[in-house]
Amino acid sequence: MPQTTSLSPLLEDVLRRNAGEPEFHQAAREVFDSLGPVIAAHPRYAEASVLERLSEPERQIIFRVPWTDDRGHVHINRGFRVEFNSALGPYKGGLRFHPTVTLGTVKFLGFEQIFKNALTGLPIGGGKGGSDFDPKGKSDAEVMRFCQSFMTELYRHIGEYTDVPAGDIGVGGREIGYMFGQYKRITNRYESGVLTGKGVGWGGSLVRTEATGFGAVVFAERMLATRGRSFDGARVLVSGSGNVAIYAIQKVQQLGGTVVACSDSTGAVYDEDGLDLDLLRRVKEQDRGRLSDYAAARGTASVYRPGGDIWALAAETHIDVAIPCATQNELDGDAAATLVNNGVIAVVEGANMPSTPEAVRVFSSGGILFAPGKAANAGGVATSALEMQQNASRDAWTFDYAEHRLAEIMVGIHDRCAETAEEYGSPGDYVLGANIAGFVRVADAMIALGVI
Ligand code: NDP
Repeated sequence: MPQTTSLSPLLEDVLRRNAGEPEFHQAAREVFDSLGPVIAAHPRYAEASVLERLSEPERQIIFRVPWTDDRGHVHINRGFRVEFNSALGPYKGGLRFHPTVTLGTVKFLGFEQIFKNALTGLPIGGGKGGSDFDPKGKSDAEVMRFCQSFMTELYRHIGEYTDVPAGDIGVGGREIGYMFGQYKRITNRYESGVLTGKGVGWGGSLVRTEATGFGAVVFAERMLATRGRSFDGARVLVSGSGNVAIYAIQKVQQLGGTVVACSDSTGAVYDEDGLDLDLLRRVKEQDRGRLSDYAAARGTASVYRPGGDIWALAAETHIDVAIPCATQNELDGDAAATLVNNGVIAVVEGANMPSTPEAVRVFSSGGILFAPGKAANAGGVATSALEMQQNASRDAWTFDYAEHRLAEIMVGIHDRCAETAEEYGSPGDYVLGANIAGFVRVADAMIALGVI
């Protein structure tokens, strides 16, 4: 058994200094819980106080975002950008627009992003941002005015070599377009590499839209293969119905699986014979509609469950794989027990930290395959880095080439996590493997760059 070091005093200090930020505490605790063996094996990390430095963002920006609605009323939202760690490259990570966003949310996401980005093997540091603005129910003109106001402050903090935001919950191609337009107008520079997730016609990369969902399923396929299983013939639950969920569903279908349910924040749909992806995309992407609209259009082939718990379906119908793709802490201990007790063989996190710590313990003691988000959903940021490469070389790759690069990266991340878990005496523990492999890459760079 490898030696381990108790990191409790360090963790206590991080929790104390970041009071009132439970999601950041949860993310920090999960990483600290994994790092004992690597800190014990390599004293240089403790000597250089790497963990203490890694837990403190390099910079945190909070700003006022005033905007005017269509009736002429003024609203004030709060904007955030947390530039967490730039040892490996410019800060990189998405922007989230959702009414629940706080500094603690952005810090949890930024912290996760450091390790995720390191796992890709690409030259990108970790950051995250967003606002408590709710794009739901707003007109296009209101969303545009909000994005322009947000960028009027953010522009001074970002840049191709400094910090490169992208999308996340509530921020898709429309919002990136409005923000890029405002950045271009203020700076008088067509600096394509300053934002990723751009439209393919103006500097975006093919496959970026699909990348997070596709990548999670490629990771899952590799993981299932370790137990001689595949998606062919598998029945799958995917929570959420946004960007990550839709492309996870598409890739599962391409690999021969059947996705029988998905959800949004007001309900879930269950289609015994599999979801109609074309209809789902039309309702969600074109019409910006709700799943209730999807169910109404699908007729008797679909059952809509208002407020429904998607994971409970595992007790009613056979499910092989669960892919949570909505939001943090959406899958709790009880839901995890339902999945494990009803024969689910793998859970793959498309979202960031969708499983509570209790759920992760249930998966671990149940012996099922579990892929943490920071490894499984890294395809999005990896393809963002590929978009930056294309911007820097004024090039545009084909869909097939970009997808091939994404698949290579996901297989690489899977294997790195699996090998690291094995090396540290916990074969099959992808949480430990991801945390240690990501940490080592960042920590070694931090030591090389000195105390800065
Ligand atoms: P979208 O905004 O496109 O979709 C989010 C989906 O999750 C919607 O169906 C939404 O339902 C649902 N959802 C959001 N908040 C809640 C909530 N509090 N309770 C229940 N359901 C909720 O976001 P993405 O698909 O881009 O992101 C989903 C997850 O994936 C997030 O955790 C994000 O951080 C993560 N991720 C995204 C990446 C990307 O490239 N986009 C990259 C890596 C990770 P509703 O419409 O009702 O709000």
